[in-house]
Amino acid sequence: MKLISGKEVSQIVKDEIKKETQQLLEKQIKVKLAVVIVGDDPASHIYVRNKKKACEYVGFESVEYALPEDTAEDELLEIIDKLNEDETVNGILCQLPLPKHIDEKKVINAISPLKDVDAFHPVNVGKIMIGDYDFLPCTPAGIMRLIESTGYDVNGKDCVVIGRSNIVGKPMSMLMLQKNATVTICHSRTSNINEKIKNADIVIAAVGIPEFVKGDMVKDGALVIDVGINRKEDGKLCGDVDFDEVSKKASYITPVPGGVGPMTIAMLMQNTLKAAKLHNNIT
Ligand code: NAD
Repeated sequence: MKLISGKEVSQIVKDEIKKETQQLLEKQIKVKLAVVIVGDDPASHIYVRNKKKACEYVGFESVEYALPEDTAEDELLEIIDKLNEDETVNGILCQLPLPKHIDEKKVINAISPLKDVDAFHPVNVGKIMIGDYDFLPCTPAGIMRLIESTGYDVNGKDCVVIGRSNIVGKPMSMLMLQKNATVTICHSRTSNINEKIKNADIVIAAVGIPEFVKGDMVKDGALVIDVGINRKEDGKLCGDVDFDEVSKKASYITPVPGGVGPMTIAMLMQNTLKAAKLHNNIT
């Protein structure tokens, strides 16, 4: 079994970005990410802090709008409008989830597709579907980069993606399809799920259930990607894959923490750099 280290690969990605950002700065081009967060969700605040730290590391400017829980939808939309207009801002990220009184869809639709570094806007989602995109959603893009780092050839392989969310499962399936895998998307209503997982060369688990994938569910030699971030009763972090059991059978596996998580942030940096290049007509 080989461990796929998101810590190591994300460091390589961030160092590449840092170098390119330096080259842009030499041409007087600055890269700037605006992060909007509404409310006090502790996990969201940790994510935002880590994103800002990554910006500092690669040499981006970052600006944070930390808004109170009771912020009106109109007020948030106004801030997004201003950021859309602001030529110094290359990327806009609105940390999800938003408080219940705000319509998430409206907010996603309000972000200019050219600054949509999460790639959640319907225009960008549509572009991914036809394989002609500027931005890829960060978590699936990070997973593709992790798989690439192993040298594993996805072409013609059977891949099971467990989970069909708009953020992970669906775009992930599309990217694997574009790399010529045969993709099965499993979800909460899938019948005979164990059989489907057992037949897969590649298993990508984005379920949100602690240690959902057990050792006896996977094929010998499978490549296993664990997207889950869950807390066990003892407070420890764990993934959607039972690492102790599955690592005995997998050819490659990602750990939690230190697997997909750091890649998501690195890819956010990559999208922001890409946005800055697009805004400055650099290909
Ligand atoms: P989600 O809750 O939106 O989707 C979960 C999916 O799992 C659904 O499509 C559902 O159909 C499926 N599912 C639920 N129960 C199932 C079952 N018994 N059998 C089969 N499928 C089932 O979650 P999400 O946003 O896609 O996130 C999934 C996990 O990944 C969570 O643990 C989340 O915290 C984590 N996550 C991690 C990162 C990262 O950067 N590492 C990014 C996003 C999400």
